[in-house]
Amino acid sequence: ENADLMLSVNNIEVVYNEVILVLRGVSLDVPKGALVTLLGPNGAGKSTTLKAISGLLGTEDGEVTRGDVVYKGQNIANGSPDKTVKDGLFQVMEGRRIIEDMTVIENLRLGAYTRTDSQSEIKADIEKVFHYFPRLKERTGLAGYLSGGEQQMLAIGRAIMSKPDMILLDEPSMGLSPLLVKEVFEIIRTLNKELGITMLLVEQNANMALKHCDYGYIMESGKVVLDGTREELLSNEDVKEFYLGGG
Ligand code: ATP
Repeated sequence: ENADLMLSVNNIEVVYNEVILVLRGVSLDVPKGALVTLLGPNGAGKSTTLKAISGLLGTEDGEVTRGDVVYKGQNIANGSPDKTVKDGLFQVMEGRRIIEDMTVIENLRLGAYTRTDSQSEIKADIEKVFHYFPRLKERTGLAGYLSGGEQQMLAIGRAIMSKPDMILLDEPSMGLSPLLVKEVFEIIRTLNKELGITMLLVEQNANMALKHCDYGYIMESGKVVLDGTREELLSNEDVKEFYLGGG
């Protein structure tokens, strides 16, 4: 076993409702401190892969039926999502899922729910989130009034409040204008570098994700069909043709 790996997914199969086989042997590695992206068309199984890692699969009647998910050296396949959060692994769900009738600060405090350290440390981390997302500091009303981009920022900020070692991000660009997508990706890369948070990011926006990642995997129909470093994937002819909008 490799101590430099934060996460290693080994040949997992996932079945929903005991019958629907969605992942057919998926393997991927995420080294400590890396930003790894998982790309592929709708329905390829990207979100399912993230949920198999975080344990959220269990809440949707899904199960890892073969293979293992090794996080910090321990097999956590079919584990509880609360426990993975306590172990420093936090999933930011697709569609943001912030609490609209609470304020920005209340949402951020919720992200710290598993922490047992002092209020002053939690306050300091709220300030840290505002340092990376200065727009959020100006929004004092309910989170439901935030723009789509601001809600995405808040969802990521809430993840940071759990003091994670690793974040799983499901389609952070969804529903955002091109300008905001660029801003959100730049912040994600900065958080990865400056706070040393390891990241696994699922995206439909292959251009942006490949530009900012260290390594990428491409999934189709429940399997990984291609993987490589940013440079390898950006120069691959098939990737250019099918994912980056023409050679
Ligand atoms: P998208 O970008 O559309 O979310 P994806 O690559 O993330 O695509 P998944 O959401 O993982 O794909 O879905 C993979 C397959 O699993 C799809 O065929 C989907 O219909 C099926 N699926 C997803 N969630 C469930 C569920 N809770 N119960 C049954 N089938 C599911």
